[in-house]
Amino acid sequence: MAKKAVVIGAGFSGLSAASFLAKDGFDVTLLEKHDMPGGRARKLEVDGFTFDMGPSWYWMPDIFERYFAQFGKKPSDYYTLKRLDPSYAIYFGDNDVMKVPADEKAFYDMFEQLEPGSSANLKKFLEESAYKYEVGIKDFVFRPGNSITEFFELRVFASVFRLHMLKSISSYIRKYFKHPQLVQLLEFPVLFLGATPEKTPALYSLMNYADISLGTWYPMGGMHEIVKGMASLAEELGVNIKYNTTVEKIDIVKGNAKKVICQDAVYEADVVVGGADYNHVEQKLLDKPYRMYDESYWKKRVMAPSSILYYIGLNKRLDNMWHHTLFFDAPFGPHADKIYENPDWPDNPLFYSSCASITDPSVAPDGMENLVFLIPVAPGLKDDQAIRDRYFDMIVDRFERLTGNDIRSHIVVRKDYGYTNFVDDYNSFRGNAYGLANTILQTAFLKPKMRSKKVDNLYFTGQLTTPGPGVPPSLISGEVVSKEILKRIKPN
Ligand SMILES: Cc1cc2nc3c(=O)[nH]c(=O)nc-3n(C[C@H](O)[C@H](O)[C@H](O)COP(=O)(O)OP(=O)(O)OC[C@H]3O[C@@H](n4cnc5c(N)ncnc54)[C@H](O)[C@@H]3O)c2cc1C
Repeated sequence: MAKKAVVIGAGFSGLSAASFLAKDGFDVTLLEKHDMPGGRARKLEVDGFTFDMGPSWYWMPDIFERYFAQFGKKPSDYYTLKRLDPSYAIYFGDNDVMKVPADEKAFYDMFEQLEPGSSANLKKFLEESAYKYEVGIKDFVFRPGNSITEFFELRVFASVFRLHMLKSISSYIRKYFKHPQLVQLLEFPVLFLGATPEKTPALYSLMNYADISLGTWYPMGGMHEIVKGMASLAEELGVNIKYNTTVEKIDIVKGNAKKVICQDAVYEADVVVGGADYNHVEQKLLDKPYRMYDESYWKKRVMAPSSILYYIGLNKRLDNMWHHTLFFDAPFGPHADKIYENPDWPDNPLFYSSCASITDPSVAPDGMENLVFLIPVAPGLKDDQAIRDRYFDMIVDRFERLTGNDIRSHIVVRKDYGYTNFVDDYNSFRGNAYGLANTILQTAFLKPKMRSKKVDNLYFTGQLTTPGPGVPPSLISGEVVSKEILKRIKPN
């Protein structure tokens, strides 16, 4: 009889882990507290609008192809992708907007125009980022991070310097480019990793390769279509997904996780995978003797930012807007300081808007627009309605002035989301939106471990362990943990 694997949480990582384990021959049950899969990538449907609640950028299409291919499938079996052009736009100020072209030649032209002579450096920069992508995404991220020795192989060791693991991406970019808008453009993808460019290794210029060379894509219907595809694939593979099922405790007998206890049911297990926030699984679902880390360890972790989000339905279409638009019309320094160094509410934050209805008419009623605003804020800052309203007014003023659209009088739907929602919905540690920051000191084997050292058959996956935050890393995390399990536990 097949051994029983119980996976906690049907986010990207849990869905991925469950699917690989089912493929490997385990009898898999996936327990999810919500009534739908996706976790941070759930969808919100209100009055004909469909909002992606979390991720909106589809980067690294090769990782999704690789994922589905391992089950004999393709992304196109589940959703249709469209490449965006421009990839995104950046407002730097009044009448100062950069439309980032998808076409590489047009991209080079834009660099030359802003910084004459920079295209030679861009070529070199992109060659180096392509190499980092090749080694980083096709090799490093698949190492579980159990120990530093994984990185002792000659090839890896030799590449440490070429990968720029020990220098910051901020100084690395400035070595090549001077124009402040180009520097900001190249530094922006690092924000996905949860730390400042100064604290992020230059290895992550691989994100620039993903941005510029691989492109920004959109699954028609929204990011949740990926989740739907993954959940139906999991079910095809035999995973038993139980929604509306919140895990309350993992019962340990003789150093092994034997039962996963929910309010109305108990699930027997031969192996357990925590795909909910690592901190929650280990600090709340396990009794103290079985935790690998204590409170002081968690206190010292650098978490990726939390966010305030606004899901807005407008009863008109917008001008001067693109699918993804970054509002960098305020200096990043003071905002970064309030996110990373001295956690507090920012005075004049940068923000981002996603307007998926520009690409996809199915996400808003006819003649209307689907608009999501996101402000990154420090993790751990408790918000309330007054704070959300204040920031809403602040960014709508800026949005209206910069884009020339009046939106206040056209809002037909508005839902807010922030710290308290992240904690209540996802048991998120300090209300983090996207996991553990990828700082130099929290990379690879320096992250919380995938395999418990205290409970023999307990494993962790997701954006607080290796390889890190983001949708593609979460898919990889599920795959890597399943391989770690197979090394020690046979399915039959
Ligand atoms: C606002 C926002 C924007 C983002 N933008 C992007 C983007 O554009 N591109 C990108 O690549 N990434 C983006 N990310 C990051 C990406 O969404 C995450 O890295 C990824 O979704 C994390 O997946 P996960 O499986 O680790 O965690 P989660 O999605 O949090 O999944 C964990 C699951 O566990 C469930 N759970 C929790 N506790 C329990 C319990 N006790 N019992 C049962 N179930 C439980 C939760 O309900 C949840 O479904 C964004 C994230 C946010 C929040």
